[in-house]
Amino acid sequence: MEQKFVFMFDHEKAVGKKMLGGKGANLAEMTRLGLPVPYGFTVTTEACNAYYEAGEQLSEAATLQIKRSMEKLEKRTGKSLGDTNNPLLVSVRSGAVHSMPGMMDTVLNLGMNDETVKAIADLTHNPRFAYDSYRRFIQMFGDVVLGLDNSLYENHLENYRMSSGYTSDVQMTAEDWKEIIEAYKKITREAAGRTFPQDPYEQLFLSIRAVFDSWNNKRAVLYRRLHNIPGHLGTAVNVQSMVFGNMGNDSGTGVAFTRNPSTGESDLYGEYLINAQGEDVVAGIRTPQPINELKREMPDLYGELVKMCNLLEKHYKNMQDIEFTIENGALFFLQTRNGKRTAQSAVRIAVDMVNEGIVSEEEALLLVDPDQLSQLLHEHIDPEHTSQKLVTGLPASPGAATGEVVFDADKAELLSNEGRNVILVRPETTPEDIHGIVAAKATVTSRGGMTSHAAVVARGMGKACICGCGSINIDLETGRFTVAETIVEEGDVITVDGASGDIYLGEIATIEPEMSAVFRKLLGWADNTSTLGVRTNADTPEDVRKAVELGAEGVGLCRTEHMFMDPERLPAVQRMILAENKEERTKALEKLLPMQQQDFERIFETLRGRPITIRLLDPPLHEFLPNVEELLVDITRLELTDPESAELERKQKLLRSVRLLEESNPMLGLRGCRLGMVHPEIYEMQITALFQAMTGVLSKGIDVNPEIMIPLVSHVAELRETSGLVHKVAKEIGGRNGISLNYLTGTMIETPRAALTADEIASEADFFSFGTNDLTQTTFGFSRDDAEGKFLQYYIENGTLPDNPFMKLDQEGVGKLVESGVTLGKQTNPQLKTGICGEHGGDKDAIRFCFDKGLDYVSCSPFRVPAARLAAAQSALGSRQERKSVLQPG
Ligand code: ADP
Ligand code: MG
Ligand code: MG
Repeated sequence: MEQKFVFMFDHEKAVGKKMLGGKGANLAEMTRLGLPVPYGFTVTTEACNAYYEAGEQLSEAATLQIKRSMEKLEKRTGKSLGDTNNPLLVSVRSGAVHSMPGMMDTVLNLGMNDETVKAIADLTHNPRFAYDSYRRFIQMFGDVVLGLDNSLYENHLENYRMSSGYTSDVQMTAEDWKEIIEAYKKITREAAGRTFPQDPYEQLFLSIRAVFDSWNNKRAVLYRRLHNIPGHLGTAVNVQSMVFGNMGNDSGTGVAFTRNPSTGESDLYGEYLINAQGEDVVAGIRTPQPINELKREMPDLYGELVKMCNLLEKHYKNMQDIEFTIENGALFFLQTRNGKRTAQSAVRIAVDMVNEGIVSEEEALLLVDPDQLSQLLHEHIDPEHTSQKLVTGLPASPGAATGEVVFDADKAELLSNEGRNVILVRPETTPEDIHGIVAAKATVTSRGGMTSHAAVVARGMGKACICGCGSINIDLETGRFTVAETIVEEGDVITVDGASGDIYLGEIATIEPEMSAVFRKLLGWADNTSTLGVRTNADTPEDVRKAVELGAEGVGLCRTEHMFMDPERLPAVQRMILAENKEERTKALEKLLPMQQQDFERIFETLRGRPITIRLLDPPLHEFLPNVEELLVDITRLELTDPESAELERKQKLLRSVRLLEESNPMLGLRGCRLGMVHPEIYEMQITALFQAMTGVLSKGIDVNPEIMIPLVSHVAELRETSGLVHKVAKEIGGRNGISLNYLTGTMIETPRAALTADEIASEADFFSFGTNDLTQTTFGFSRDDAEGKFLQYYIENGTLPDNPFMKLDQEGVGKLVESGVTLGKQTNPQLKTGICGEHGGDKDAIRFCFDKGLDYVSCSPFRVPAARLAAAQSALGSRQERKSVLQPG
């Protein structure tokens, strides 16, 4: 049988988007539902691909089928193409599988020529309309099909209007349009080197080819690249009889959403224009009216519109975005598709549709994109603002804030204590700046990547942060920064958007986040559906409380070093690090122990028995010390001003110690369990604090379930030795209190060797947590800060890598290590608990991956917990659907 390249809109069987494109499939679907859709047919995406394979030639079969379909269309409408009594006019519309709004081309009013225009003028008794339509067609044809610059036509029209003393097209008469038509034909001839074709079939085939060609125009190619749409899909072409919204005051055209796309309210939302053709609404030449005006102007028709919109929603089980046209009081549907919406709207629509019986709870979960949800949980800037963007950095921590620029942590604290809003701007931050980050509404740095000190600290605190903003030049001496020509002085107000990395001059209103009742309801359904646990990465009692509120079922990563970074503790931490012998170090640790113990107590009390994975100290010690360059500056200044001071001596000594601890590659240096083995007294203090906190909280009748995690293990012996210490301390403290302490020990899998020898490591572990941040660094051999600053951008723009592997889990490489780590680990220890705790823990694709590979939970920052809960539910639903379609093919 001959391959079928063309389907009429009322073709018996649903053929599907892949063949018909989104627009074509939906036009057919609406036709089948009995909605008033101007009749027509769809040339398939396969015809498009065949066209490209044949070297941009339409095959004979396709050509013939199009001609035959055209005859069917003529028969149905009682009009025919090029007929001088009753001419058929059609549109030729592009429509790919994925909606690519405005990227490809459409031609309207096809079939117009010097003869048919007269017939249209007679039939409609409206010559003005007829000649206007004809000139529109010549213009679109020149632009889309012949590739001419639209301004050639527009400029001519503009001049004509001016010299006639008209202020708008409404004043143009039929005679005026006739003159324009002659001029347009001449413009076309001169610019394209060919005459405007009078033969409607020539017009038709040239237009179809032009739509196929537009699949590969620059905009479309770029759009596909940005949205990860494959280039081999091709576009379909829809040929559809025209309806006219520009026939007079009982005609019009509009677009409508079946619900409000920004709030989710269940009223029709949109706009329309009386006496206009489709493209006028988008073109912005005239200002459209809100759709509720139509309710007053044409109440019956409005009622019909609402009725059909409800029908469409019930059918598609989703909010629809439609195009309609009214011709002499009759309503026609020209397009429908699932409408884009804000997060707030998405959540409300999903829940409302369940209440209205349109979708099930499970179907509702698929109506919301987890990636959108962070919008709901952070303060964000008013989307209506009109401020000019100053510069963009890395979006290190979401949230929006407005405030005065300050360049110094002390100053930030001072002003904030006076109740002023400040934004801390620094080249980079160190632990000595923490009080400034706490005091500021947001932090901006010119250096450092997504894991720089400022980024990590700000994310932990849930505060906005923009890092690595290399185009700002900070001059700390004069207290100003510059971006090209713009100077921003200390005290000037800026607004930062940590979700996008954008910085604006001046104040922009920010909008408070809220966890609405409907949002909670939706997430409740998600939890009922999901089997994958969602935990949180949280280091402080405040974060733990927030995460539990947002639905975390426990803590997947509690980084104890963050407890060391508190400015009040830092001096004791530094004394511990700089100790010259074991006694000194033990003394300093004794100071820290009660502080750490207190933190654990508060966290355990907040968790009330929920599990918590606590990681022993991980980073290299120099991270707690001041920065060498700043020390050098201080020393030089003191040498000049106060050479005899004790302060100078102290700083000099500090500098020597900092230098001693310097490593040429700290990421691979003395850190993680290595640190704990070289200086066991540090881990011993932490473990003691943990178990003492545990016994204290247990004695109040509150359950505690700690999982003690030993970081950066690459050989089972490291784990054996370090967990030996854990067991020893547990025995001692348990013994002293006459109880036996229940806890788990395990490790973070973050080196390839650990993943490759997971079977051995599992013999010493109750759990594995895949630290995918470091595992990505060690698998690729990329240092994240250097990669993000120096070459990753190039890799992504160049297409060397599809994504930033620190944001999107590299499933083929890093993922393979995770998968085999789980499999090998469970071979030795079938009870092994597994989870991931990198930043990937909040990403929906990584969550689906973890679900498929049988991990027990994912762990992410508190603000991503709701999105992760939804993504976990969608993973379960997605895999169930896939299994079903395997069982029942077709
Ligand atoms: P896009 O994908 O860019 O929206 P469309 O193919 O939807 O392009 O068409 C552009 C405009 O022309 C829309 O407003 C549409 O409603 C209108 N239009 C398309 N075909 C017809 C038709 N047969 N009759 C009336 N208006 C049409
Ligand atoms: Mg459209
Ligand atoms: Mg690590």
